[in-house]
Amino acid sequence: MTDFILPARTFPFFQQLPAWRELLENLKQAARPPVSLFRVSCVAIGKSGKAYVGVNLEFEGMPIGETVHAEQFAVCLAHLHGETGLTHLFVSAMPCGHCRQFLMELGHPTLPMTVLEGEKEVQTTLAQLLPYPFTLARPGTGMLQVMPSTVQPTDMATAVHQAALRSYTPYTKQPAGLTFRLKDGTMINGSSLESAAYNPTLPPLQSALIHLVSLNRTYDEIVEAVLMETSAPAVSYAEITQKWMAHHAPEALFRAITLPG
Ligand SMILES: [Zn+2]
Repeated sequence: MTDFILPARTFPFFQQLPAWRELLENLKQAARPPVSLFRVSCVAIGKSGKAYVGVNLEFEGMPIGETVHAEQFAVCLAHLHGETGLTHLFVSAMPCGHCRQFLMELGHPTLPMTVLEGEKEVQTTLAQLLPYPFTLARPGTGMLQVMPSTVQPTDMATAVHQAALRSYTPYTKQPAGLTFRLKDGTMINGSSLESAAYNPTLPPLQSALIHLVSLNRTYDEIVEAVLMETSAPAVSYAEITQKWMAHHAPEALFRAITLPG
């Protein structure tokens, strides 16, 4: 069991890099990279003081581009829990170009980052890692400004509607949400989180899988998945979600429904 959300400012070692190095090393065990076997971990400190853990996820039988990177995981978890901004990012490997682009959607180019890779230590910022960005996100706006509903859903239709409304889709204007129902009735939401460069976008499936992994649950617990997207969508996640379900939760029911209104 891994704790993916660490309580606010309780790290006695907040300023101690060897302790961070050890924490990141331990968190790598929660990664699920069956293809590369390369484990990455990340901790994003939220403005609230809470810390969100991220690890990389790969999915057998799926296109390699469906992979979730640790930095995306941590940011998505912060989004799921209503965090409004980040103050620091710790990561166990140098962020790839894809993640640098994704992180621009925080609207916080000066975000401080500490990379602790093996014996290497790099103190940097997002802007230093991506000095000439392709970005449309303005400072102070971004994917962590989409707040969660305070209403606890009791049925799948309400849950997936809430998930779709929590999407960050300023570029396509095509909200999309996905809800899993697990064997014990637990409902797990995921929302589309777009990148201006499109490809680093986190689809609703990956967002829901991040949520599932963060609760230390397994894919074979999924009994139902409902995807909600706009009618006649210019962007659709239905086919790729169905493909993932066929590989990883073949017994589960899957349906795609239309966003009301
Ligand atoms: Zn990456």
